Amino acid sequence: MTYSNIEKHRLTRVLYWFLQWTWGIVQNICGLVVFLILKVKNPNNKLIRYNGAIISQWSVNGSMGLGMFIFDGHQNKDDHEETIVHEYGHTVQSAILGPLFIPLIGIPSFIWANFPYFVRLRKRKKISYMNLYCEKWASNWGERVVQNNRADEVTNGSITV
Ligand SMILES: [Zn+2]
Repeated sequence: MTYSNIEKHRLTRVLYWFLQWTWGIVQNICGLVVFLILKVKNPNNKLIRYNGAIISQWSVNGSMGLGMFIFDGHQNKDDHEETIVHEYGHTVQSAILGPLFIPLIGIPSFIWANFPYFVRLRKRKKISYMNLYCEKWASNWGERVVQNNRADEVTNGSITV
């Protein structure tokens, strides 16, 4: 890896971390609380560092990205990697949108995912879950960051995430 790429990755990680703990602190603290509860309940819970975020496993049927924390309930599913990239996109939204994350992303996403009306609507009209702006957006941002890092890994050897 070239010096400038190491610097670029380090700076991006520092910026990601800094934004989560300042501008995005509300949802980051919520994520930290969930993270700590899971850690206390299961000290052997496997943690993975992922492009600056921390992934922990949970037994909920579904995954969530909150602040810099990703909770992974899709371990054995076919779309596992895609889901992690998507949830990572929510963590990037948290860093960039800060206090706007909860009203613009968190609440609409929660309602879209869980309210029976929307669950039925998606089923009846065969609408993809990813149709909602904040979901489409999370996948796009997640893919962009992860692919950038992967491209650097390929050209410059492995990087520490
Ligand atoms: Zn989502």
